[in-house]
Amino acid sequence: MKVYLDNAATTPIAQPVIEVMKEAMEINYGNPSSIHSMGRNARSLVESSRKTVAEILKASAGEIFFTSSATESNNMAIHRSIVDLGVRRIISSPTEHPCVLNTLKAICVERNDVDVQFLSVDAYGRIDTNELNHLLESSDIKTLVSIMHGNNEIGTMIDLDKVSQICDNHNALLHCDTVQTIGKFDLDLSKTKVSFLSGSGHKIYGPKGIGIIYINNDNMTKAMINGGGQERQLRSGTENIYGIAGFAKALSLMVEEREQQLGQIMELRNYFKSEAPKYVSDIQYNGNQDDLFLPHILSISIPKTMKTDLIMFNLDIYGICASAGSACSSGAEKDSHVLEAINAPSDRKTIRFSFSHHNTKDEILHTLKTLADVSS
Ligand code: PLP
Repeated sequence: MKVYLDNAATTPIAQPVIEVMKEAMEINYGNPSSIHSMGRNARSLVESSRKTVAEILKASAGEIFFTSSATESNNMAIHRSIVDLGVRRIISSPTEHPCVLNTLKAICVERNDVDVQFLSVDAYGRIDTNELNHLLESSDIKTLVSIMHGNNEIGTMIDLDKVSQICDNHNALLHCDTVQTIGKFDLDLSKTKVSFLSGSGHKIYGPKGIGIIYINNDNMTKAMINGGGQERQLRSGTENIYGIAGFAKALSLMVEEREQQLGQIMELRNYFKSEAPKYVSDIQYNGNQDDLFLPHILSISIPKTMKTDLIMFNLDIYGICASAGSACSSGAEKDSHVLEAINAPSDRKTIRFSFSHHNTKDEILHTLKTLADVSS
């Protein structure tokens, strides 16, 4: 039995998304910059996709840009806010995705005129909004707050409306990585003020290699990649039209089906938690479990034993795809900066299971039985 419980790392592509992409590949393959009919058709696909994304986020089409990934979008938000908007302080959290943390690290090395500060997080990975308020109050320096909406390792979420309000009160720019939440939660950018927001196709049953960045009209930046002037001069390079069409389709499907999907996912999560003690002793959960959590991410911990060293390997042998923390590009397990930030006890082993609506209760049961076998 193959059980895929790593949907926070990536998701399978939904069939209607494949169909939209296939049609674009087979028929609509013109270059959107060409002026002939094939080019115009491709341009129309790009612009209608942009409009779909903008409508869902309640933004204007001119505020949506397609990129190669959320990694690129996050790099862009941080770098351009410094170069174009005069940001000289960045407030972030130690539990951000490596594409934010490593960008901040690079900025600290490359520039001595930008101050990077990290908020503290509690044992559940929650930021302290009083501390954010206090930091913003304490200085008038032009600030970007870069905080993710939902954590990809432990599932803890922020209260985005509250964080947005605090930033707005202090004229700080807000960058929010919504990779794990876009489409899954209602995001209304006409009400919630965000300066930059990022999303990624492959976390919402869409293709890999396509991301978006929303840039609020009030804080428009200049080019990140120079060239032929695509994406209204901001991000040159011939558009990935298949990815763009796939992203828009995936996002609209996600929104259409989210209530049903979230219901199914919550049921699987609750089932896992209610059955787990019957199979695995002393199981604990990382991250916020009460409110403001991502239903699809369940990070568990069990006591470390000789057997737990090889647990990911053994789960894999039994067909169970899960993750030790976050997916790591090298494929090797390494200590998680998120678990370190929440002071997770070093004598426990963490495994992240992340669900989709394709999973079943039988799969959860099989996973728990296997977990019992390979851990004791
Ligand atoms: N931010 C978060 C929270 C993520 O989970 C990921 C992917 O794991 C990324 C950013 C990077 O997204 P992409 O794979 O599109 O570069």
